[in-house]
Amino acid sequence: MSGASRQRLYRTEAIVLRRQTFGEADRLLTLYTPGLGKIRVLAKGVRKPTSRKAGHVELFTHSRLLIAKGKSLDLVTQADTVNAFLPLRVDLERTSHAYYLAELVDRFTEEGEENGRLFDLLLNSLFWLGESQDIDLVLRYFDLRLLDYVGYRPELFQCVRCAKALEEGGAFFGPAEGGVLCLPCGQGERNCREVSSQSLATLRYLQTKDYEMCRRLRIDRRAHFELESLLRAYIVHLLERGLGSADFMDALRRQATRLDAGGVTGV
Ligand SMILES: [Zn+2]
Repeated sequence: MSGASRQRLYRTEAIVLRRQTFGEADRLLTLYTPGLGKIRVLAKGVRKPTSRKAGHVELFTHSRLLIAKGKSLDLVTQADTVNAFLPLRVDLERTSHAYYLAELVDRFTEEGEENGRLFDLLLNSLFWLGESQDIDLVLRYFDLRLLDYVGYRPELFQCVRCAKALEEGGAFFGPAEGGVLCLPCGQGERNCREVSSQSLATLRYLQTKDYEMCRRLRIDRRAHFELESLLRAYIVHLLERGLGSADFMDALRRQATRLDAGGVTGV
């Protein structure tokens, strides 16, 4: 930011991660940008029915913004929608998943840390979420890439304890260990859970192949439950170490519990 610090205005693309009401008619926006990472800005007057900016700063909207530097908070002065992701807005289930993507990006990032890959991932995932027949596949692909880009890539190829390469056959997954354990290392280990060889293969595929290849995978419901449950446990573990808000973690934990009970599908 040093070179730009004397400029009063700057332009950026952004995706709206979060909106909070502020003052009489304003909103505080949490944005994710390609070049500035996460930023918080004020959008004045956008809760007035006459606001011309309002539609361009809805949740999950990809916009081009002109922002003025302020004393404490920067101000949105112009906003134009690039993509409103309409398919996500007409379908409650897809809306809730878009909310999940935005929440995870918010929880796993600090303000002002650039991460262009993460911006692209979020942008692409919002698009895929609107068009994919297999929403869970999009979410798991997103989980794995996000974890990678924020420095928590789970180890899926060798035992995190003895470093033995894991081939065919069963293994354990340890959320606190950050990856898989071979059978002897994981046996009887508290909080480790068994992972089927099919699920491990799928996770590896999702972690290493691009989306164009991954989208062709056919994953049945049962396998999806297992994948979601494993990644949830890992994400909850990471957030509990101080990354996230209690509300969001509680919601995740409730879902993880339901998944483990073999029951209801995630929201
Ligand atoms: Zn081992």
